[in-house]
Amino acid sequence: MIVVMKRDATSAQIGEVIARVEEWGYRLHLSEGEERTIIGLIGNGRPILREQLESMAGVERTVPILRPYKLASREFHPRDTVIRVGDVAIGGEDFVIMAGPCAVESREQLLETARAVREAGAHILRGGAFKPRTSPYSFQGLGEEGLRLLAEARKQTGLPVVTEVMDPQQVALVASYADILQVGARNIQNYALLHAVGESRLPVLLKRGIMCTVEELLMAAEYVLSHGNYQVILCERGIRTFEPYTRNTLDISAVPLLKQLSHLPVIVDPSHATGRWELVEPVSCAALAAGADGLLVEVHPRPEEALSDGPQSLKPERFAALVRRLRAFAWAAGRKLP
Ligand code: PEP
Ligand code: MN
Repeated sequence: MIVVMKRDATSAQIGEVIARVEEWGYRLHLSEGEERTIIGLIGNGRPILREQLESMAGVERTVPILRPYKLASREFHPRDTVIRVGDVAIGGEDFVIMAGPCAVESREQLLETARAVREAGAHILRGGAFKPRTSPYSFQGLGEEGLRLLAEARKQTGLPVVTEVMDPQQVALVASYADILQVGARNIQNYALLHAVGESRLPVLLKRGIMCTVEELLMAAEYVLSHGNYQVILCERGIRTFEPYTRNTLDISAVPLLKQLSHLPVIVDPSHATGRWELVEPVSCAALAAGADGLLVEVHPRPEEALSDGPQSLKPERFAALVRRLRAFAWAAGRKLP
């Protein structure tokens, strides 16, 4: 349920509504817009007496939220959420590009990639230190050493860092190095992890699960939001279908759909969505056209030597060409690409 206050509601009237619903056993989420204040009620309190609320001074109307996600829903928070990471704003007018290797493999590999993507125009550096690999015999990531290297790359390039966290007990460690915590597709329904990142104060990049519906993605976001962390970025990275020519199938319609259903920023990962570097550029342009707020792209200086996801990684010069192409499209999509 949300309570929409009148334009001219006073702070005393808002305070009275808050006191009343707290008395009924609800937690509150206050959204103070330029025009009016919206009060969201969360939790299972006493049955809400809508007439009583609507008869209070300053209240315009009450609106029940029928969807299972509340804090993530557009009704609850009509304006777009914009998440600031350093100088970068995700979810606003700017189209934000996050790029870097799938995995941090070595100091040289990471620093070379970080410099190249910054030069080409990326805004945020990605790189996995803890890797969720299908095979236990594959490279599992450098762990904390990888995090240290990411921090060094941030220092050298000025780019904020996004990296994956796989375990609730790792959150504090990863958060001590990262600027954004990534929850990977395989962990989107790891509720203990969602709870832990929900208690962190860092933004969370939440990837859609391999077999996850749009509603399940929003419910995962709701877990993070309901633990007090309102900075969630949704990421469409393809889902599993019967089509084997691509690694996953990018659900492009999920982008405008998520933007309609939710106020949270939505980005697209064209690398995992396709599994093929040749498809990354066209799919990235489609994401921009569909209204995505940004991209998460894998880049490797020598993809043929990559310890993970080489076939979908762009070489730095291809990444630079991609950013140039996106710049040409950004204007038509009504976005800025700083
Ligand atoms: C990744 O970003 O490197 C990754 C493992 O992605 P996903 O969780 O989408 O498979
Ligand atoms: Mn990868």
